[in-house]
Amino acid sequence: MAELAKYERVVIDQDTCISCGACVAACPYQALELDDNGKSRLIWEMCKDDFSCVAVCPVKAIYKASEAPNELKAKKGWYRFGKALSPEEQKAYEEWKTKYGITAPPV
Ligand code: SF4
Repeated sequence: MAELAKYERVVIDQDTCISCGACVAACPYQALELDDNGKSRLIWEMCKDDFSCVAVCPVKAIYKASEAPNELKAKKGWYRFGKALSPEEQKAYEEWKTKYGITAPPV
């Protein structure tokens, strides 16, 4: 199994995010950034389930993927890839989408 297939990751509600940057600072894997609109965004393959971001967000805009409301999983804009995925990584991505019901495409 690809290492990337192990992780649950997070879902971000960009409409709730107030652009404080706390999650970006808290992530030990540099898996979060602020996008052009100042909203938190996940860099998909960087996340390793630390979940510090979930705890530090003052407005509860970040959820573990397994606990995220379904409507957030369909919203666009909250994650991207930081690099081109290998075929094995692509497979892990597809499995993640299916397992957690993620329907939004990457940015
Ligand atoms: S901690 Fe929450 S409010 Fe602050 S940038 Fe991250 S998602 Fe947005």
